[in-house]
Order: sequence, then C-alpha cells, then structure tokens
Amino acid sequence: MSSEAEFIPLAIPVTGALEAKYLLECVETNFVSTVGPFTTRFEGLVAEACGAPHAVATSTGTTGLHAALMTIGVGRDDLVIMPSFTFIASANSVAHCGATPWLMDVRAEDWLLDLDQVEREIAASAYRHRDGRLIHKATGRRVAAIMPVYTLGTCTDLEAQRALAARHNLPIVADAAAALGATWRGRPFAEGADLSVISFNGNKIATCGGGGIILGHDEAMMKLARHLTTTARTAADYSFDMVGYNYRITNVQAAIGCAQMERLEGFVAAKRAIRARYDAALAGIPGISMFPNHANEGSACWFSGIVVDDPKLPAPAELSRRLREHRIEARTFWKPAHLQTPYALAPRADLPVTEALWARVLTLPCSTDLSEAQQARVIAALREVLH
Ligand SMILES: *Cc1c(COP(=O)(O)O)cnc(C)c1O
Repeated sequence: MSSEAEFIPLAIPVTGALEAKYLLECVETNFVSTVGPFTTRFEGLVAEACGAPHAVATSTGTTGLHAALMTIGVGRDDLVIMPSFTFIASANSVAHCGATPWLMDVRAEDWLLDLDQVEREIAASAYRHRDGRLIHKATGRRVAAIMPVYTLGTCTDLEAQRALAARHNLPIVADAAAALGATWRGRPFAEGADLSVISFNGNKIATCGGGGIILGHDEAMMKLARHLTTTARTAADYSFDMVGYNYRITNVQAAIGCAQMERLEGFVAAKRAIRARYDAALAGIPGISMFPNHANEGSACWFSGIVVDDPKLPAPAELSRRLREHRIEARTFWKPAHLQTPYALAPRADLPVTEALWARVLTLPCSTDLSEAQQARVIAALREVLH
C-alpha cells in the first residue's frame, strides 16, 4: 500500500453536527464550566440507558472509579479484589484510596474476573474476623470490595457476581469503563454492582472528550458520591465537612456526552458489526484466534482484534509495526497490573490465563465510523503481514 494511503486509526471519537450544535449552545449561553443544564441531562440519559436509578458524572473514568471506591468505604490499607488483566487506571483508583489491589486471574473464555478463583482465594487466604471484617491472612488487611472489570465491554454473569459478593458481604464497584450499551441476558449491566463506573474518554464506546459517570441504586450512597466529587461543600459560605474532590464534569464535556448518548444505539451496532466482520474474515486463519465473542449476550464489543496463538507467527508488537507501514494503527493490549512497577508487590493469586494471554493480543481499528472498505483494507493488510 502506498504511503499516501489514508491512515486508519485504532479507535477515535465520531462527532458531528449534533455535538457542534450542543457545544455552540454552551458558548452562546456562556455555560462552559461546571454549572449548566447539559450535566443533569447527561446523567439522566446515561442512567436510563444503563438501568440505574441514579448517576453522578465525573471529570474522567478514573476519578469516577476513585470516588466510587471512596463512596463504598474503601480506605487506607484495605485490599480490593480485582483482575490483574486490566487498564492501569483500575488499579490506580484503588491506590488513590490508599488501598492495594488483590490481583486475580481472568477466565480464558471471556477475559473476565474468574469468580471461581475469587471464591477459592477467599476460602484459602482470608478469614472472617469477630468484628465482621474479612481479613487477608498474609497481610492482615481488610478486604473491602470487589472490582470486576467488564473487559471489551462484556459484562459477566451479573447474578453469579452478586451472589459471590453477598456470600462474603463485600460491595461491588464495577469498572464498566467500556460497557456502555452492554447487557447480560437482556438485563442492564448496572444491576450487577452496587456502583458501576463508565468512562467517556475518546477511545471508549461514546465520548465527552473526557469524562466519566458513576451509576448506582442507593440514593443515600449516590448523594455521598455527589458530595465527594463536588468538594464536599455543605453551604455557599465556603463550608465543607470532608476532604472532598473537584471531580465534576463541565457543561462542555456533558454537551458532547448528550449528543453521543442520542447516537448510542448506532455506536453499539457499529461496534458489533465491526466485530462480526473481523470474525467472519479472519477466524479461519491458522495460528490465530478471535476475541471472545459475546455479542449475542449483549457485549458492547468495545475493541476488536486477534490473539496470536502460534509462537512462530510474528508477535503483536511486530504486527503493529508492519501494519503501520500500511498506514493502519493496530496495537498491543493491556500489560497486566502485576507486571507494572507500582503493583509488582501487590498480593496476587496464580495468574496463568493472564500470563499466557496479554502479550498475544492485537487490537484492530474499530472506530464506529470505520467503513466496510476501510475494514477490508485492514483485513487484507493483516493477512499479508501475518506471513
Ligand atoms: C478507559 C479505562 C479506564 C479509565 O477511564 P478514563 O476516562 O480514561 O480515566 C479505566 N478502566 C478501564 C478498563 C478502561 O478501559
């Protein structure tokens, strides 16, 4: 392919006339900061789309996760059970609370937190203190919450997840960063956790430019989330009753978010169609396999791509380099938390699936406006660079 060929990016926002209209409204009304009508509207649109009665918008997904963990009561020296195979922001949000991740494996079949392993690890490595707290034996720390990650926008069996948490009296804060539009057997994903957090970063299902949202069921809890994210102000006379955070979203971000939410169905349909086309075109190639496919169980199909199984084939980093020569952006995927400097010493279970998987993943272009012709170019180029 010549160097003049159009560059095909991995996953970029898709904006247009509706976003422009709402942004202009912000400027014309001068509501460009944290006050303005789009924020409330945005929270309502997301809450309704995700089956949650309450929503609190935040500046990013990461600040949303941090605030959600604080809201649920995660604090200094606690442990939070979570998969090692995730974007670093999940672990960082735990660390921002002064807590430490207790890293577990994912299942080979869906890349989601291995709930059976969580059960076994709790049984083997924790005990219930007389005061009711669940204590991790090796560190003496309290286990404060479970943070499942809805990898690739796929949620887990929500009932199994809630049953596990209930057996151990643990709250669930779900990292649903890329799960906007996802369901489990027709049920909205927000039903699976006490609090769920979506990211509206530029590479997610829908964007605010940057932004996040906390979804929840309990009104008092969500009031606390609102309080914590808005500097914990109690009155207009500069009175505050906690160490609060300025994690508010701006009206400008929310304006983009409202426009994107009105287009959500189209975005999710596009993501699923892209996944289905890659699967149909690439599944037969020897030595590779496709991403776990749960579109029929309601995955939002955030990213698409391949897993390079045969070690004789070029590794994902090399495929990425070769595809760049075709003016196509394809990337390696999450390096797990236990291999990252800040979490190298975090307690962890055996991680055989994560260890075997992470370095073999290659993500392929999947922006929601990817045309069939562009995707055909990606498929042809991938076939070429694999050999
Ligand atoms: C994107 C992402 C986040 C962080 O969201 P930001 O809005 O970028 O702060 C957290 N967890 C996962 C799994 C993500 O993919």
